[in-house]
Amino acid sequence: MMRDLLDFYERAPLIELGAEADRVRREKHPDDVVTFIIDRNINYTNVCVADCGFCAFYRRPKHHEGYTLSFEQIGKKIDETKALGGVQILIQGGHNPYIPFQWYLDLLKYIKTYHPIHIHGFSPSEIDFFSTVFRMDAKDVIRELQNAGLDSIPGGGGEILVQRVRDIVARKKAGADRWLEIMELAHQAGMKTTVTMMYGIGETNAERLEHLVRVREVQARTGGFTAFICWPLQPENTPTMSQQPKTDAVTYLRTVALARLVLDNVPNLQASWVTMGLKIGQLSLRFGCNDFGSLMIEENVVSAANTTYRTTVEELDRLIRDAGFAPARRRQDYSLIAA
Ligand code: SF4
Repeated sequence: MMRDLLDFYERAPLIELGAEADRVRREKHPDDVVTFIIDRNINYTNVCVADCGFCAFYRRPKHHEGYTLSFEQIGKKIDETKALGGVQILIQGGHNPYIPFQWYLDLLKYIKTYHPIHIHGFSPSEIDFFSTVFRMDAKDVIRELQNAGLDSIPGGGGEILVQRVRDIVARKKAGADRWLEIMELAHQAGMKTTVTMMYGIGETNAERLEHLVRVREVQARTGGFTAFICWPLQPENTPTMSQQPKTDAVTYLRTVALARLVLDNVPNLQASWVTMGLKIGQLSLRFGCNDFGSLMIEENVVSAANTTYRTTVEELDRLIRDAGFAPARRRQDYSLIAA
């Protein structure tokens, strides 16, 4: 079956691939509603010791552009988010060796007390980093973060979940097995998570498929992934990958379609219009995607690589309608928000 899928991914006419993915999407979402969430990405620190070759965002410790936000700055961003209709924050940061574990717990409690909102935060790579530097089991890290107010975990730092690739581009952070193990632990703790794939970092097509198959296997055990999101490497300004060619829109469409076919146990597929542009975002709704991801108020990581497409709620509504679907705003758990 896998050989067949790889062959289909590489050789099928684009339209045929899209039609198959659209068939699966329609089975799962027959009402033709395309959802999106309004949220804000808060990168609490850009100080990082992981040195990922594809990352244009981080600064090494002691770099003059390094920062860590204060609780008050974060609280202000949340208030601004809510004022604009935002229903969650996505809080992620670099692997900053100077922040103690208590800071994270206090931050979560502070948010829940003074600026309550859904907190989607701390990718498996960060949780693995906490587990290493604070010498705690990942299970305990997750439990303590959850008790302090963490609601769900984003799929950041997944890139390609094949160790050969990670050894080349992200050697110092959670390996493929560990990343998936942390997701599984989070699911066992009752938390929902998303899962991602960033491709175009030197992997083969077979390794892209392997990534998807591994995600599918975890999902078969836990059912904890709510959505899958993929996007290509944004090579500009990255430490070691700025010469890497940017992959094209056709590859993106083929890849989301493949994901829709392999991940038949993951309910939602998000379009990555932030990296691909709004037109390709629209097209991806016929290649397996049923969700327009987030209307994000701030996106530091992608914009550090000079790639940001910004838009408004009205524009998103119009784009979704123009593509033949009914737009709806949602929460992190995909429940709809009445217009
Ligand atoms: S991708 Fe994340 S972990 Fe890697 S260098 Fe950038 S901030 Fe650090």
